[in-house]
Amino acid sequence: MNEFELIDKYFNWGSQHSDDLAVGDDCALINIHADTQIATSVDTLIEGVHFPIDSASADIAHKALTVNLSDLAAMGATPLYFTLALTLPNIDEQWLEGFSSALKALAKKYDIQLVGGDTTKGTLSITINATGSIEKKPALLRSGAQVGDSVFVSNTLGGAALAWQKIQIGQTPSADLLNFFNRPEPQVALGQALLDVAHSCIDISDGLQQDLSHILTRSKVGASIDLKALPISDEVAQYIADTGNWCVALAGGDDYELCFTVPKSNLDAIKAIEKALGVTLTKIGIIIDDKDLKIEGLNKPCQAYQHF
Ligand code: ADP
Ligand code: MG
Repeated sequence: MNEFELIDKYFNWGSQHSDDLAVGDDCALINIHADTQIATSVDTLIEGVHFPIDSASADIAHKALTVNLSDLAAMGATPLYFTLALTLPNIDEQWLEGFSSALKALAKKYDIQLVGGDTTKGTLSITINATGSIEKKPALLRSGAQVGDSVFVSNTLGGAALAWQKIQIGQTPSADLLNFFNRPEPQVALGQALLDVAHSCIDISDGLQQDLSHILTRSKVGASIDLKALPISDEVAQYIADTGNWCVALAGGDDYELCFTVPKSNLDAIKAIEKALGVTLTKIGIIIDDKDLKIEGLNKPCQAYQHF
């Protein structure tokens, strides 16, 4: 049984209030008013699993809040507040100073307020629950993709995974690669701009292949994407040219970019968003009347990351 089967079997109980959206998307959506929805998400980071042992505390804090902001971004939500559950092996004030400063800086940048939490002693782990709101527009869901939609991703893929791969074999990644890995930027403004423009959206936390597949499953459609269209940085391109291994870009994870689908009628709006926000939005394929993800040009499938 994998992580997703476990969640589905034991915790996907459906929604008690019929028009709320419960387990299964990047955030839960709670209707609090006729035209206001609350989006909420929780993520845990564990030392040695989600970040290397001995990572700088500032980098850990940045990633812990980013993964949650990224889930809000995937729904098109505006960040409001978060809680922090921190488990620490001991009190190290230098560590705490770095953690607190980086967390505060990112919270300020995205205008999200720390409102509570819990502090305990044990193996280092950080859990953040972030909440945002969506007003007057339907949230972006994983389930809205339609046949004929174009599939897009923001910025570039694979940088974080390539850095992690190098760290694991004892190499020191370049500063650029380390930046992808330690300082991913949540696409909050992009998510909000995609409300009314995209049919479906997800953030790429576990790799494009697995995360796009979540859109396909929930939308009951297929997709055909072209490997050569994937946006990658020069260093990732060089690595792929040297090794023929596309899996860092397809299945590596930790990119925190958005993958979304757009109907033909809104392709002009995508160009306008690119310009207004200074992001790169690349069309990588199309939604088709099928069930699976077809990847043009891939001869060896990639293994996606799963916890179990
Ligand atoms: P993400 O990568 O966007 O954080 P996950 O893959 O962790 O999402 O989770 C998939 C879905 O399952 C989400 O809707 C999440 O809220 C839900 N989920 C995960 N674990 C549990 C659990 N233990 N109980 C209830 N819902 C869960
Ligand atoms: Mg997500």
